[in-house]
Order: sequence, then C-alpha cells, then structure tokens
Amino acid sequence: MIYRMLFAAMAALALPHLHGQNAARPTVVLTDEARTVHSSGMLFDGHNDLPWELRKSGNSSFDQVDIARNQPRQHTDIPRLRRGGVKAQFWSVYVSADTMLTGDALLQTMQQIDIVDRMIKRYPQTFEFASSAAEIERIVKSGKIASMMGVEGGHSIEGSLGNLQRLYDRGCRYMTLTHSRNLPWADSATDDAKHGGLTAFGKEVVREMNRLGMLVDLSHVSPDVMHQAIDISTAPVIFSHSSALTINDHPRNVPDDVLRRMSKNGGVVMVNFFSKYVIPTAQRNENENARGTIHDVVDHIHHIATVAGVDHVGIGSDFDGVPRLPEQLEDVSTYPLITQELLNRGYTKSDIHKILGGNVLRALRGAEEVAKH
Ligand SMILES: [Zn+2]
Repeated sequence: MIYRMLFAAMAALALPHLHGQNAARPTVVLTDEARTVHSSGMLFDGHNDLPWELRKSGNSSFDQVDIARNQPRQHTDIPRLRRGGVKAQFWSVYVSADTMLTGDALLQTMQQIDIVDRMIKRYPQTFEFASSAAEIERIVKSGKIASMMGVEGGHSIEGSLGNLQRLYDRGCRYMTLTHSRNLPWADSATDDAKHGGLTAFGKEVVREMNRLGMLVDLSHVSPDVMHQAIDISTAPVIFSHSSALTINDHPRNVPDDVLRRMSKNGGVVMVNFFSKYVIPTAQRNENENARGTIHDVVDHIHHIATVAGVDHVGIGSDFDGVPRLPEQLEDVSTYPLITQELLNRGYTKSDIHKILGGNVLRALRGAEEVAKH
C-alpha cells in the first residue's frame, strides 16, 4: 500500500516535470565567452551533403548555385559556414543505393568527387583540399576550411577493393559501409538483416580500409555490422552522422553496448541533427514531424559523452541531407549555440574542443598510424 502510494506520488511528480522539459526549455543565447571558446576550437563536422544537394537542385553547377552568396534554400553557403565557425568538413560524396541496379555507382561517386574538387578550385580563399590530419591542422591555421571527403555507402565500390583504392587515391578518407539498403556483403540498419552482419568479403573491406588509412564509418549499418567491424578493425572507427538509440529508438542511432566499446577502440560517434533521429522516442511516436530543439541534440551529445566518454563524441550534422532540423540548428551558422549550451551544462573548454573536432582528428590520425605499420 505504501509502495503504491509512493509510486503514485513519484509518477505525479515525474510526469509533469518531463512534459514541462519537452514543452519549454529556454532559447539558447550566445555569449562572448561561448564565441571565444568556439572560435578557439576546431569545428570538424563529420557529414555535410552539399555536393548531393548541388547535384539535385543546382545541376552540379556553382554558376547556378553560387555559394559565395546566401543560398537560403540550402543549409550551407560560405557566409554561413564562416558565421558557424566551421574549420574542417567531411563533404559527403553520397550517391543513391539505386546505382546498385543501374551499375554506375562508382561513376556517379567520381562525379560527386568532381563537384567537391570544383568547389575547392572555385573558392580558393575559402576551401583547401585535405588528405591527412596534418594537412587539416595546417589548413585550419591558414584560416581556410579544410575539406576532406567521405564516401556514403559501400555500393560505391561496386564489389571491388581496387575501386576502394581509387576512391582513397581521389582523397576519400572514410567510407560508410552501407547506406539505407543491404549490400551483397553487409547489412544495413534500415533493411531486413540478411547476412548476420558482414560476409567474408565485408570483413576484407574493413581490413583493406585499415591498410589504406581510411576510416571505417558505421553510420547506417546494422548492430551486427557495428560489432563485427569493431572486432576486426585495428584502427578507430567513426559514426559520421548518428545519434543515441537510448534517447530515440531509431535504427539509425547507436545502442549503448556499442557506445561502451568506443573507449577501447578510440573511435568517435558524431551526432546527427535530423529531427527524426534526435527527438525522444515518445515524442516521435506522438508526432513524426516534430522538430525538437537544440536541447534535444545536446542531450544526445551528453548521453554519448556519459556512456562512451567525452573523448568519443563529435558533431555530424547531416546538413543539406535532411528535410527537418531542430529549432536553433537550422543551418551551418548555428554551431556556436552548441558550444553555448555545452558551457551552460558545465562542460569545460577543453572538453568542448574535443567534441567540436579534437576527437575526430585524433581518430583520423589513429587510422593513419595503423596504415603506416
Ligand atoms: Zn546518411
């Protein structure tokens, strides 16, 4: 009886509190302190889909979409990248998994790499191509945005390790093993698992990536692939754009048992901003189209920092790859507000710098070290 009363009293207290938290958390207001902490760090975002956005709506042409000007229909342009204090970026050279059927996955991926090349050549005061952690540091010091590429989906290699090498040679420094569908050699998080994880060839892909010094990206893959890749990889792995499953039970997010393996592996989980992955499960069940706020994203950062450790969390916005974003994280100009909210929650400057980019730079260097030996 007492227990029941106690339980009822606790429930009465807990429910309005939780509800209240979701309903109204304060607008984050940027202070000079946060500006200073942000600009003295190195924001290195794990995933931006501008090249795909440009292919889709700009005819792959910087004449049609000049990113030196404001482009309000996109999340990304140069004025806003500068306001957001972006120092380094993994540009995604994603192409659709449908290319598995049309047989031109590698060709289209090369075309996406060409877009990034042309962007760097057209805006040489803003961007410079980076192929290593050392180059990233040098370019960031020079005041430009260090630009590195990531392949999104193993379909791009068309089943050939030779093609993986070609993508590495063009400057790609991570590959997401799958996109939204299974491959003949790996299961996707958003398809019915077929292989129980990685096939023998899938394991060979991971080893070859270690040999090359290409980061193994586990966003989009099934939990079995996550575990098997971490078992096999002798280098740190990344999640270039994934959030925490405990907060939002979506298959694109990372379960706690995988987060707990990050410290030994040395890897980084870079938090995705897409509302659908970020808002808490109950809220998503209530309204698929809820946007959420910056607080929800920082909740994911905090959860991963708590479970995996502050050395294993980063930022992987997915800007220009998603249709819906939380309030106060509408575009690439908004990153300093994350720094502000981390300060508000008591994070130190040095921890914030790790989260903004120090951690992923360390993982990249780790992959380079493994490749050297
Ligand atoms: Zn993605």
